[in-house]
Amino acid sequence: MDKPEYLLKDGIRLDGRKLDELRPLTIEVGILKRADGSAYVTLGKNKIMAAVYGPREVHPRHLQKLDSAIVRCRYNMAPFSVRERKRPGPDRRSVEISKVIREALEPALFLEEFPRTSIDTFIEVLESDAGTRCMGITAASVALADAGVPMRDLVSGISVGKIDGNIALDLNGLEDNYGEADMPVAIMSKKDEITLLQMDGHLTDEEFKEGLKMALSVCKDIYQEQRNALKRKYAPKVGD
Ligand code: ADP
Repeated sequence: MDKPEYLLKDGIRLDGRKLDELRPLTIEVGILKRADGSAYVTLGKNKIMAAVYGPREVHPRHLQKLDSAIVRCRYNMAPFSVRERKRPGPDRRSVEISKVIREALEPALFLEEFPRTSIDTFIEVLESDAGTRCMGITAASVALADAGVPMRDLVSGISVGKIDGNIALDLNGLEDNYGEADMPVAIMSKKDEITLLQMDGHLTDEEFKEGLKMALSVCKDIYQEQRNALKRKYAPKVGD
């Protein structure tokens, strides 16, 4: 990706969006038959699959916790998910992202109700264009609900950033590469509880507040989309 002359002109981004505009989002529930729960999420060019298994017996057993379930999470980018082939298998980035996704999801789960078990969450990025950890969280949380895992709330994620000096919602790959900052956020909407907050780059206090406000507001829209997706599977309209 060559550096473009600018990322923003007259308030419009290179992909035609306004600063506070989300890329087109779709969420589908229950597309994998073998998994206990699954979801497929697209956000612009991102295509992400999540699968959940469990709560199920932990193997190896020495990992069992006597008083709660454990959550295992694997975020993986397919070799064909990026322009240059990505070397298959875990790397530093995917290990870090798996950890932060697990930590973003755990507060939503009643782990103490399922001692000695594991809840295994797999996130496969089939095509990526920035923002995949947030959409991984969004997809995984719907897949957990689809698996029937009791939850305090769904977790919804989105990234905000800074391009050409302006706070912008949901950076795409080009903007992520050449922008000044990227800040992934995930929340449990009901009580505005933040479960993921990272930052790459620099924002002033004011910019941080503006970005966080934007992310929290859009997470509520994403939350509605997650609920709608679950309703389409579990409460179809009469006549559907
Ligand atoms: P996120 O996808 O959560 O925004 P990053 O900020 O680390 O995570 O990555 C931004 C984007 O950079 C990814 O969505 C992906 O499109 C691209 N990217 C990440 N790792 C690689 C890689 N190893 N090879 C090519 N592109 C990559």
